[in-house]
Amino acid sequence: MIKVENLKLSFGKNEVLKGINFKIEKGQVISIIGPSGSGKSTFLRSLNFLETASSGTITFGNETFDLSKINKKDINRLRKNTTMVFQNYNLFKNKTALENVIEGLLIVKKMNRNEATEIGLKMLEKVGLKDKAEFYPNQLSGGQQQRVGIARAVAMSPEVILLDEPTSALDPELIGEVLKVIKDMVKENMTMIIVTHEMQFAREVSDYIVFMDDGTIIEEGKPEEIFINSKNQRLQNFLKRYS
Ligand code: ADP
Ligand code: MG
Repeated sequence: MIKVENLKLSFGKNEVLKGINFKIEKGQVISIIGPSGSGKSTFLRSLNFLETASSGTITFGNETFDLSKINKKDINRLRKNTTMVFQNYNLFKNKTALENVIEGLLIVKKMNRNEATEIGLKMLEKVGLKDKAEFYPNQLSGGQQQRVGIARAVAMSPEVILLDEPTSALDPELIGEVLKVIKDMVKENMTMIIVTHEMQFAREVSDYIVFMDDGTIIEEGKPEEIFINSKNQRLQNFLKRYS
């Protein structure tokens, strides 16, 4: 579904991604783990063209693009394949939960309001928040806000959902409800790339795990290869800190 080859990305002189090779198939769930500053967010953002790579190629389906030369028109078209869920929810403060969920349907998909509202309510129901449709973000807990963020992403029916540490801004007692919503999406065969520090969760839901450090993929494999069998010292040191 998506394949990235030799992706490099720099901020000024600082090369943050040093040649990433990555692919994901339809229906797969891939978790990206790794220390803070290793380039995980930048990689996700580059898949959504929020950051511009300096070289490499990206393939969506059967179309391949040179990332250093890709034009605005292709970017706008390809962006519809992916939607992102951010660590800090990024909800519009002056819009209700429902309005937040349907914003993209109205603006990007140009749906009429009735149709969008119907989908929006269905999505809020999926994440257990139908009764909060008219609430504003500041009337919702962090966990509820993030569930609205997830409903908003799923509403766009993208090919791939990118989740960047969806639970790391939450109080511990609110993490479970968000992980549960993500698990429900896994059951529905959504294709997802998840950056997370929740190792137990990653192990449970992922088909494949990627360990990044210092702008490169150091180790990758099925969960048991990463969490049980890996001999890689950097990975073992990292996992020790999160168990
Ligand atoms: P992670 O998500 O793994 O914690 P990031 O992708 O956020 O890592 O960051 C990787 C590196 O890129 C860090 O050194 C960070 O300081 C740097 N970086 C990230 N975003 C920017 C930016 N917009 N401008 C300059 N440097 C950045
Ligand atoms: Mg990050």
